[in-house]
Amino acid sequence: MIVCKFGGSSLSCRESIERVAEIVRSNDARRFVVVSAMGRASPKEEKITDLLIKAYNGDEIAREEVRFRHEKLCRELSLPSITDELDRIDEAFKKGCGFDYFVSRGEYLMAKIISGLLGMPFIDGTEIAAFSDEGRWLIKETFVKATENLKKYDCGVIAGFYGEDGFGRVRLFDRGGSDISGAVAAYALDADLYENWTDVSGFLMADPRIVDDPAPIRHLTYGELRELSYIGAQVLHEGTIFPVREKNIPLNIRNTNEPEHPGTT
Ligand code: ADP
Ligand code: ASP
Ligand code: MG
Repeated sequence: MIVCKFGGSSLSCRESIERVAEIVRSNDARRFVVVSAMGRASPKEEKITDLLIKAYNGDEIAREEVRFRHEKLCRELSLPSITDELDRIDEAFKKGCGFDYFVSRGEYLMAKIISGLLGMPFIDGTEIAAFSDEGRWLIKETFVKATENLKKYDCGVIAGFYGEDGFGRVRLFDRGGSDISGAVAAYALDADLYENWTDVSGFLMADPRIVDDPAPIRHLTYGELRELSYIGAQVLHEGTIFPVREKNIPLNIRNTNEPEHPGTT
């Protein structure tokens, strides 16, 4: 069984989301899908997570754009309207919900959308990750919680990037943390493989935004990957390595725009 995580760069518009659906459907082993919030379809756009942060700080235009982009996406994918969900989020905001809850709604909404599109159950991030009441990620508790909760499912779409604390309040990982949610799911489900789908064909020799056309790296050890992530190669959050290394689960970084490319294992 494969756990596959799709980052915001793979979930930015109808076309990219249709490619994601095709990738998932093309292999029956891909039974658990972990998603980030919607990314940017063009350099002019902002990531939904960034818009939610602005909206929480009072930017009305950002709040409208979050609504507009999700409603448009559902129309384009011929999915039922998501307006009720957006209304509930606005309602929670008016009642003074926490920052983490509000910002996590990007992943929540995307998991709802992809679950509708694939016809798989929605699995909330709060079922996967445990945090202390101060908001610190608790690794051991997370492993226990995720293993217990995921037993109930045969397949599903998991909202990445957040979990809950002892009071049942939503808590966020750091930015880029959906990679960790995916690794936790792979650990809890004893997956044969963790696929991390993004917009580059694996780990490259250099950051492609700085160096033109860097060569891909076919294989890396967990240790090398952790070190590269730690020193700032953005492609993967450094917290991703520990859960998969614990169970020796291979990690494959792949490109949604070039699914035939083997990427980095
Ligand atoms: P996602 O939305 O899928 O989580 P991210 O933006 O977090 O994607 O990570 C992918 C990006 O990481 C690439 O688009 C690339 O610009 C950047 N990046 C930085 N360093 C590297 C590297 N060494 N190899 C590949 N990508 C890199
Ligand atoms: N959406 C969150 C972010 O932009 C988490 C993630 O993408 O992994 O940081
Ligand atoms: Mg990322």
